[in-house]
Amino acid sequence: MVFEHPHFDDHERVVFVRDADSGLRAIIAVHNTVLGPTIGGCRVRAYASGDEALTDVLKLSRGMTYKAAMADLPFGGAKSVIICDPKKKTREMLLAMGRAINQLGGLYTTAEDMGMEEDDLRTMRRATPHVTGLPEDGLGTSPGPLTALGVYHGLRAAARHRLGKNSLADVHVAVQGAGHVGGPLIEQLVRDGARITVADMDRALVEKMQQAFGAEVVEPDAIYDVQADIFAPCAIGGTLNARTVPRLKTKVVAGSANNQLGDDEAGRLMHDKGILYAPDYVINAGGLIKVSLDVMALRHGRTLGRDAVEAKVVRIEDRTAELFSLAEKRGLRPEDAADEMARERVARGKEAWAA
Ligand code: NAD
Repeated sequence: MVFEHPHFDDHERVVFVRDADSGLRAIIAVHNTVLGPTIGGCRVRAYASGDEALTDVLKLSRGMTYKAAMADLPFGGAKSVIICDPKKKTREMLLAMGRAINQLGGLYTTAEDMGMEEDDLRTMRRATPHVTGLPEDGLGTSPGPLTALGVYHGLRAAARHRLGKNSLADVHVAVQGAGHVGGPLIEQLVRDGARITVADMDRALVEKMQQAFGAEVVEPDAIYDVQADIFAPCAIGGTLNARTVPRLKTKVVAGSANNQLGDDEAGRLMHDKGILYAPDYVINAGGLIKVSLDVMALRHGRTLGRDAVEAKVVRIEDRTAELFSLAEKRGLRPEDAADEMARERVARGKEAWAA
């Protein structure tokens, strides 16, 4: 029973979706709508079991509530998962998923996540208008560069707090992953005079970073051993764990990857080593800010300028600085302080409704 599930956190709705004709099996979890209707990506993954999919969607949807609350957005958190090998997903499945999302009447707007391509979103949009994050919407860009902008500002706050530096000039950053976020992040850091070491599984990408920005390249597994000031995980989740954190030689960890803490030990180990961790969902909210503003602009029939969106993303720097101060004051690790701050914001929203 979902109510007894260890990751059930008073989720408002958990919808199990089945479409026998297309073979679709999916779950939509709407975690919390106190601050507004929800936005959250749709992940397509070959989960080993229904329970594994349920665990993922319950955890991810709660994370979206926290991310939106910390970014001061009038949105709640949700997520959906399609249980299927991404290579085997079909147009019929996506249309059936679109119909299921449509039945929620705008309570949940979906976006891209692992295993989904832009064209998949376009297919879903044939069945529901509640789809966002396509380059043709709003600003006409994908979220990656705005996520990178937010991470860059989070990194600045962390460098000031832990390294006592107001600028990233001459700061050495080890970047894991040079994709849609890591690439533009490196570009911005180099513009500030930072030194970059980069690793990516994709050889062509690292060569591009080497040629365009003078980045030093290391093998993927060697990135944890680089003697740098900051480690920026911008590849996949879970790369900080009991095996990798002991190898880190940096004073700060700040990057874009979702769910960076791979196990319970990771946060404690970083804290014990004196590494300042900038919680992932606080500094990687730039893309969500962009798609949220797209949704609001579409609803009100106008388009927001890039300046307005960037101004909101830039505020991640102050928010991250505020979080570090609060964590120190309360004697908490930054990730615990962030969860506490997010929960407080939702609770305040609830009080406002009750008043
Ligand atoms: P991406 O797929 O464009 O880039 C990820 C890169 O990491 C790829 O080039 C891949 O080859 C590389 N990679 C994978 N495993 C690696 C490893 N073990 N070592 C080194 N490199 C590895 O993805 P992205 O859009 O740049 O997102 C990066 C991370 O940030 C993801 O975790 C994503 O969930 C998160 N995120 C992205 C956005 C966004 O707007 N794109 C927003 C929030 C969070």
